[in-house]
Parts: sequence; structure tokens; C-alpha cells
Amino acid sequence: MKPGTKAIHAGQHPDAGFGAIMTPIYCTSTYVQPYPAEVHDGYDYSRGKNPTRTALQENLAALEDGAHGLAFSSGLAAIHTVMQTLAPGDHVVGGGDLYGGTYRLFSKVMTKFGVDFTFVDTTDLAALEAALTDKTKIVWIETPTNPLLRITDIAAVADLTHAHGARLCVDNTFATPMLQRPLDLGADLVMHSVTKYLGGHSDVIMGALVLNDDAWAEELEFLQFAVGAVPGPMDCFLVLRGTKTLHLRMERHCENARAIAKHLDAHAAVAKVIYPGLEGHAGHAIAARQMDDFGGMVSFVAKGSVADGMDLCSRTKVFALAESLGGVESLIEHPPSMTHASIPAEQRRASGLDDGLVRLSVGVEHIDDLIEDLDQALAGSGRG
Ligand SMILES: *Cc1c(COP(=O)(O)O)cnc(C)c1O
Repeated sequence: MKPGTKAIHAGQHPDAGFGAIMTPIYCTSTYVQPYPAEVHDGYDYSRGKNPTRTALQENLAALEDGAHGLAFSSGLAAIHTVMQTLAPGDHVVGGGDLYGGTYRLFSKVMTKFGVDFTFVDTTDLAALEAALTDKTKIVWIETPTNPLLRITDIAAVADLTHAHGARLCVDNTFATPMLQRPLDLGADLVMHSVTKYLGGHSDVIMGALVLNDDAWAEELEFLQFAVGAVPGPMDCFLVLRGTKTLHLRMERHCENARAIAKHLDAHAAVAKVIYPGLEGHAGHAIAARQMDDFGGMVSFVAKGSVADGMDLCSRTKVFALAESLGGVESLIEHPPSMTHASIPAEQRRASGLDDGLVRLSVGVEHIDDLIEDLDQALAGSGRG
């Protein structure tokens, strides 16, 4: 089955009671049993299993070409559950500009449990190789990264990781399975902040894991139940509604982002544009090979001072000034003072994150309105 068909049908079965075509929202904590210790297909308590969640988990697994899907109450809860498969003394190599919350979970929480971390720029394979030790159990990467949209070669990193006996986990939030399927490229596990493109409508916080390894999946499923960071059935329903249009939305996100990147690249008031679809982008060739398209995120630096860049973010009228990304509506933000403010300024600059950087989550509105909005914001001055 092709991705767009899977998005609509995978994991979806007409309801047995009435033939409802949409998966019902099973708002139930418990299930009536016919006899002690006899349960309906494993459904005895909704922390363990809920039919709306099962439908979503099967849908997400199919989209990522994986055998097992697991949904969590947030992206970070999903990552934390992977970390819970580790033991004190284990080592993790993390990519260079990981999502701030992932970096915080690794460096401020997991280190308390004796797990060690090394962070390296995984676009540099030699640096990655030097960071791997005989204690390394997991390599955790994002590609494209946030907000610099750096591209890591997933297949090459998978080979290197496996040669050292470790597992590769890829946070596929920015690309979505419509543009990139890490398991097919050799990764062992895919993680999503479902909150972003998969949900797609800025109305749910959720996370997910997809993998093929049966034994690891069983361990993660045990932890999902034993630790209990599960999403509710209403949220699972909303995300199922979201994934049904993921292929359509991603097409428009990519088309709009490409047009905006080209427009800004030629704009007299713009100093620099970062978009993997531009030929001048350092990761363009790898992105063109491992992705089906280049995504909906665009970063740029306007000419002028840092304050000018911050003012610009307050002057847009269609682009809303807000954190997060991946919804149908376009968003604009200033990472150094917002999403990435928790990273010390020196470290931010060292990683190439300009103090004046502006990040766009390009939505699915009409492109003319988006370009007109950016043009008027670039032409103006002062706070909006
Ligand atoms: C938002 C995000 C997360 C965290 O997910 P939550 O759903 O907010 O917990 C992790 N990785 C990336 C790339 C994200 O954008």
C-alpha cells in the first residue's frame, strides 16, 4: 500500500457493533470480563490497552514501515520510555542540536540515573565514530534538526552505530513518514512528537515510537504499561483524524516552504536562508537522497540587528508568533529568545545558531497570502 492509502486505512476497521466507519472514541477505563482472568483480547484496563489507541498505534506503525507502534502522552514521555530501557553505566550519543526538551531530559534528568551522554554533530561521521564507546547503547539523532535544519545521513550513521553494537533512534518529527522513513534506511527505532505534523492541527500533545525489533518492542510495551505515560482515547481519535490527511498536508507544507525559501533567498532585506531544498544548503544532496521532499520548516536571518529580527516576528499578521510547529497554520518565532533560550548563548553561537535567526513553520494557507505577509513584515520597522 502507498503512504496516502495507509494514512487513511491502516489500523482502521469498521466497528463490530454498528459498522461505524470511524474508529469510536472508547472512553472507558475498564472492560467487563465474562469470567475471572478471562479478558477480551488483552483489554482489561485502559492504561494497558484501549481500542482507539490500538487503531492509532497500528496506523503510525504502518506509516513508518514498522511492525510495532506505541503511543505516549507526549513526545518527551516517548523518549523517556526509550531511556528507561537503559541501565546505570550505559552511554548514549546524542546529535548536536537536539530539540531543547530532549537535551534537557538527557542532561538534567537521565544523568541522575547514571546514564552518560556525549553530544556530537552527527553530520560529521568521524566525530560520531570518536564518540562511540563499548558502553554506547543508543545513538539518538534528529534530521532535519531544529532550527538549523542540518541533515544527517541516516544510512551511514546506522552502519556506524551497528558496527559498534549500538542502536540508532531517529526523531522523525520534522520530516514525518511522508517524507522520510528511517527504519527503511537502517534505523532501529523512530520517535515522533505527534504534537506536530502527525496531529497537524495544534490541538494535541502526544508522542510515539515505531520499531521492528520484537524483543525491544515487548520491553517498551511493558514500560508503556508499567510507567503509564499513555494518551487518552479522545486525543488518539484526534490524531487519527490528523494522519488521514498527512500526505495532503505535507505536500502543501513542502510546496509553500519551497516557494518561501526561494522568495526570501532573493529578497534584498534577507541576509541568509536555511532550507534543505535550496541547492546551497550543506545537506542538500543527502536530503535529496533520503527524503521525498524537504519539509515545511524554513529558517532565515534578516539584515539588520538582532532587535530588528525580533521586531519582524511581531509584525506578521498571517504568521502567528508562537512556539511549536507542524500545524495547518503558519507560525513564526525567534529561537534564541523563545524555543532555544534555555541553551547558553555561547553554546548556541558555537553551534551556528545566529542571534538574529527567525524560524518559520510554514502552514497550508494560500502561498500568496504568506509571501505578502512576510514582505510587509520585512518592509516595516519597529514592533508590530
Ligand atoms: C516538540 C518536539 C519534541 C517533544 O515533543 P512533545 O510532544 O512536546 O513532548 C521532541 N522532538 C522534536 C523534534 C520536537 O519538535
